[in-house]
Amino acid sequence: MAITDKIYVKNHRQLATQMETNFPKGAFSGATLDLLFRGENLAKLDDTTRDRILDFAEDFLDCDCEAAPHCGHPERKFVAYLLELRETGLGPQAMVDVMSDEYMVYAYPGDIRSFLDDSIRQLEAIETLADVDGHSDAAESARQARKRLR
Ligand SMILES: [Zn+2]
Repeated sequence: MAITDKIYVKNHRQLATQMETNFPKGAFSGATLDLLFRGENLAKLDDTTRDRILDFAEDFLDCDCEAAPHCGHPERKFVAYLLELRETGLGPQAMVDVMSDEYMVYAYPGDIRSFLDDSIRQLEAIETLADVDGHSDAAESARQARKRLR
């Protein structure tokens, strides 16, 4: 399961009540993405909550693909966002705090930790393969990316 399947809308039940609509708790569930992408019912939310939800939509659901928001870019952008948070030196709990503050979403710190471990293992695999194939630039960039996540 991808980490984006484990990102949840904070105060989900309260939001659903305020918006007078039902949607899944998963921030990247198809129906939730549709709702946020269309921006329907957001006017019913209080200002602070609405701003965060709009920021989420603007930062992650902003592509022009025909299939948007189901084109895979929202998930990829969110993964990039998580890696950036990690690169600023934040631990899993702090990363969750920041995403809650910024976008009204949360995850379990243990899931974030597993995601970071997996990312590092993937980079190690890329590094090894690139070394074997003699692609020293690719190996080096994977090595640098891995170091930034440590
Ligand atoms: Zn897209």
